[in-house]
Amino acid sequence: MTVPDIRIQVLNASPVNGEGEFILYWMIAYRRAHCNFALQRAAERAHELNKPLVILEALRSGYPWASDRLHRFVLDGMADNARRLERKGVCYYPYVEPLLDAGKGLLAALAAQACVVVTDDFPAFMLPRMVTAAARQLPVRLEQVDSNGLLPLRAADRVFTTAYSFRRFLQKNLRWHLIEFPEEDPLAGAGLPRLHRLPEQITERWPKAKDDMLAGGKRSLAGLPIDHSVAATETRGGSVAAEAVLQRFLDERLTRYAEARNQPEEAVTSELSPYLHFGHVSAHQVFVELMTREGWSIGDLATVAKGSRSGWWGVSPSAEAFLDQLVTWRELGFNICWQREDYDRFESLPQWAIKTLSEHARDPRPHLYTLEELESGRTHDPLWNAAQMQLAREGRIHNYLRMLWGKKILEWTTSPQEALAVMIELNNKYALDGRDPNSYSGISWVLGRYDRPWGPERPVFGKVRYMSSESAARKLRVRDYVSEYAL
Ligand SMILES: Cc1cc2nc3c(=O)[nH]c(=O)nc-3n(C[C@H](O)[C@H](O)[C@H](O)COP(=O)(O)OP(=O)(O)OC[C@H]3O[C@@H](n4cnc5c(N)ncnc54)[C@H](O)[C@@H]3O)c2cc1C
Repeated sequence: MTVPDIRIQVLNASPVNGEGEFILYWMIAYRRAHCNFALQRAAERAHELNKPLVILEALRSGYPWASDRLHRFVLDGMADNARRLERKGVCYYPYVEPLLDAGKGLLAALAAQACVVVTDDFPAFMLPRMVTAAARQLPVRLEQVDSNGLLPLRAADRVFTTAYSFRRFLQKNLRWHLIEFPEEDPLAGAGLPRLHRLPEQITERWPKAKDDMLAGGKRSLAGLPIDHSVAATETRGGSVAAEAVLQRFLDERLTRYAEARNQPEEAVTSELSPYLHFGHVSAHQVFVELMTREGWSIGDLATVAKGSRSGWWGVSPSAEAFLDQLVTWRELGFNICWQREDYDRFESLPQWAIKTLSEHARDPRPHLYTLEELESGRTHDPLWNAAQMQLAREGRIHNYLRMLWGKKILEWTTSPQEALAVMIELNNKYALDGRDPNSYSGISWVLGRYDRPWGPERPVFGKVRYMSSESAARKLRVRDYVSEYAL
């Protein structure tokens, strides 16, 4: 199957250069060699033009929140890609920027020798700006391919304001896209011409990342101009680890997902979000592995689209509950980031939320904390401090506590705008899955997005949904959690 047209966008008017030496795949978001429409498109182009395929996976140093933690996770993925691509007859070029801006010019230098450049269509963080700038500069055609989720970004022409309305849309429209899946191995039997070596003037100026760097050598990150105070975690990145995490979920956790997914102490959620974020696993792959276990076929889909959370897919209650997160909630976040450039701004919240939060912006706050106090988990609330410390140390928090974490930041900062900025800073600095469309949708959910007005109207929150640590602590067995992460 060829990559569906709806997933491909041509970003500039530059021509395909039939005299070029190779096809260049600029891998920036779907950092994997499998189930990847963008890589598949690049391979298709290489076949059409009978040219070698070069895959550039670059890691810059100067992007916001670059740290040992994020670098290590991406580098683990690069090591997996290097191993997997070694025997595929393509040229894999992992590049790690040693000094700020040292990588400038690398893409243009490669593109000057390429027939066409193919890249990933990720709708958030600094990636859209980076790709737009490249499109203006490159002398050859730049194609962007969407391999984000089951629903192509362009299949929905509006912003959805509730999960319910998006779910109804999916139930009416997703069926046609469930028969268009990426190849498990887009390079299987590729038989492409080989590129014997990249031009020396390129590899000398921008040397390939060394094996020691990819393998996680002790001092490998020390010399890089990134934030060393955010340490690497024990969670290993890459496609191999992602597959193990997926199997653990399917084997040991899935059956209890529907009943226990809101219980942080139960550990039944998949913990796939960092791998989904960095593209080490694809939503299509997760879907296929889950549905194979469920013995599902497309004929099991319900024919009516009621927008209900459960029942449409025709699988077990736990699988339905999981798909509601993986598909409805995850792709809802992609929808807004793709549709609205201001997805990370206060002004993009629903009108009712802006109004009520503004009306309560000057309400007295019984507790006010600075970014530094919040960051170091020094508030009066032990449960909140524990959640923040888990985020700072491990790069993750369970979804239920993450909601509480955000709601308290709204309560303890001087304005909703400041709360938004603090949540973005802490989430994106520490969370392995941060800087994702779902970072921004989760954070703006705290401020009312995808929600409805709630009563009674309260100080600071107005009609925005309130959550209290006391009731969370009553519902959850938090004593062990708090003592584990106490300062
Ligand atoms: C304040 C706040 C900040 C958040 N920041 C992020 C973030 O930076 N990155 C991120 O991926 N998610 C974020 N979320 C959403 C959610 O907390 C995580 O996706 C989820 O906890 C990931 O854990 P999991 O992989 O075990 O999820 P599972 O329950 O196993 O769900 C499977 C997948 O579905 C998706 N998903 C699950 N819950 C949600 C949700 N509520 N919204 C959107 N997608 C969801 C994720 O891709 C997840 O990996 C945030 C939520 C809040 C309230």
